[in-house]
Amino acid sequence: MPISVAVVGAGPAGFYTAEALVKSDDDVAVDIIDWLPTPYGLIRAGVAPDHQTTKKVSRNFARTAMNEAVRYYGNIKVGRDVSLAELRECYDAVVLAVGSPHDRALGIPGEDKTGVFGSAEFVGWYNGHPGFCDLNPDLDTKAVAVIGNGNVAIDVARVLVKTPEEMATSDLPDYAAKAIQAAPITDVYMFGRRGPVDAKFTNVELREMGKLETCVPQIDGSLLPDDASDYPGLSDRDRRLKERNIATLREFAERKSEEKPKRVHFEFYAAPVEILGGDRVEGLRLERTKVEGGRAVGTGEFFEIECGLVLPAIGYQAAPIEGAPFDVKRGIVPNEDGRVEDGLYAVGWVKRGPTGVIATNRPDGVAVAGHILADFAKGAKPGREAFEVLLRERDLRPVSFDEWLSIEAAEEANAPPPAPRLKFYRIDAMLEAIGNAND
Ligand code: NAP
Repeated sequence: MPISVAVVGAGPAGFYTAEALVKSDDDVAVDIIDWLPTPYGLIRAGVAPDHQTTKKVSRNFARTAMNEAVRYYGNIKVGRDVSLAELRECYDAVVLAVGSPHDRALGIPGEDKTGVFGSAEFVGWYNGHPGFCDLNPDLDTKAVAVIGNGNVAIDVARVLVKTPEEMATSDLPDYAAKAIQAAPITDVYMFGRRGPVDAKFTNVELREMGKLETCVPQIDGSLLPDDASDYPGLSDRDRRLKERNIATLREFAERKSEEKPKRVHFEFYAAPVEILGGDRVEGLRLERTKVEGGRAVGTGEFFEIECGLVLPAIGYQAAPIEGAPFDVKRGIVPNEDGRVEDGLYAVGWVKRGPTGVIATNRPDGVAVAGHILADFAKGAKPGREAFEVLLRERDLRPVSFDEWLSIEAAEEANAPPPAPRLKFYRIDAMLEAIGNAND
């Protein structure tokens, strides 16, 4: 009997685990389960719509999904359709690869005002995620505040200021394209609570901000250090990366605000303290900071900007999963190198927190696949057969990988050239496309 493995979550971490399992010489059967009909997690719904090259990694995942030892069950939600306890009864091993789908809170007054959207929901909205397609953000404002200095903050700022022509080869859904193109946004402020050397965005993404058609980057050059040599605790590699960012920001400091009709302002040493306005956002109050021991410390000097939209891009957190332990403080499922409990494993962001690029998930998958193969010499539980009995008993309709390929083909056929696809963003529409509508 093969070792039966259920991977919960069809994002990169789940697929890398499945790939490592089926590449081994052991007899394994791997079922990948996702609540959406569509696979690929953040590749589809997190990676920016204008970064199509990054999304091509999904081709490798498709090859894994088509391996004869693997089966894909889309449209099945663990915790709603089947419980984790039931999965653990069916399978020798269950791997949690469910990511960190929720926004972390800023924890400042005014966060509940209309016009504040965390990056999980805002990015989900402009990526056509079924959970966020109805967000309907009002973009009728000239100024936007993006909080955070990571790659997600850069993605959000860039998508808001690119022209329709620049987005033509993207898969921005039609509703988001319409809203963004109609918005009168001229100024996007990116607020980092620490300094330029501390910023987490990577250089390729930063440089892109200097090459936009109608938007010019702005930064006060006096904030830039000569280099990162005074910076404690950096490896040589990190220091080189930081210095590349500083060199790019120095180029930005030379750019004139009147060069182009829109501006992205890189504002450092500024921590948000209050979101201003009535029911709706009208502005943001911030405190000037200095960095001490690597942390942002308030200086007691405050300032305000007017803006109609505040978009915190300050990181994500996982949600507790019924039947699995959860570390509320760290926002992860506690684990030892991916081992959670006997027969239960975790990979990706739910294992280590929301950091790293797509390929960072590969070692997690390889490690957990290794643990599973070490923990089970052979299979003892029925796996797929028992799982499918549960699905039939509950009249649940999983979406197979072949059906996903049909959805994908329809999205590609519907795309206005040169767009790669026109996404379905409602689950019912996806199911209709494969003649498998929900009752
Ligand atoms: P991130 O890289 O951790 O950046 C989060 C930012 O939010 C940091 O600048 C952080 O500042 C700031 N922040 C956190 N709490 C804050 C608060 N209370 N007030 C003000 N600022 C606060 O996270 P991310 O941008 O969400 O990205 C997640 C991961 O996905 C990263 O590893 C990223 O590289 C990756 N990603 C990669 C790409 C790409 O390769 N193109 C695209 C998107 C995402 P501190 O540093 O001071 O904590």
